[in-house]
Amino acid sequence: MSIFVGGMAMKDDKLHSPARVALTAYLKAKKMRRTPERYAILEKIFSTDEHFYVDDLHKNLEAEGYHVSLSTVYATIQLFVEAGLVRRHQFGNQPAQYERVPQGINESHHHLVCNHCGRVRAVRDQEVISMIGNLRYPTFKTEFFSLYVYGICSRCQKKLKKEKEKEQAVAKTKKKKTKP
Ligand SMILES: [Zn+2]
Ligand SMILES: [Zn+2]
Repeated sequence: MSIFVGGMAMKDDKLHSPARVALTAYLKAKKMRRTPERYAILEKIFSTDEHFYVDDLHKNLEAEGYHVSLSTVYATIQLFVEAGLVRRHQFGNQPAQYERVPQGINESHHHLVCNHCGRVRAVRDQEVISMIGNLRYPTFKTEFFSLYVYGICSRCQKKLKKEKEKEQAVAKTKKKKTKP
């Protein structure tokens, strides 16, 4: 679904433990139950730096023998979004995609979104990060930024090129046939 470019994957313990601590604090503050499901879903989310669909997350949990209903997964993701552990993205008119929010670590990146297949690639561009990081807006405290760049991915470019070549070949043979 998405590929992270260069060194974005962090060591597990560096990410998992602060996330668990943050979730526990949040649940305690909200007087919500610390269910094993919530922690299992958190673990799963923090084990990947990819963007994901809730349906796929649910399928992956199922495949690993972890049975939680789809509605529980949706509700849990919503809770994580409110707790600042997960970020929601909506690219064009595709279903929402989510990604983990590492606690205390800056994983700022922007997104290259393919207009054809919807594939999302995350890129970490130091120039963009420092440029936006250095911007100061009066009376506003920046926490993170989200930038989407829309275009056509390499796979779709190849596909479109092939289709075009095919069309041209067909047009050529048609031309030949119509010649007297
Ligand atoms: Zn594409
Ligand atoms: Zn992202």
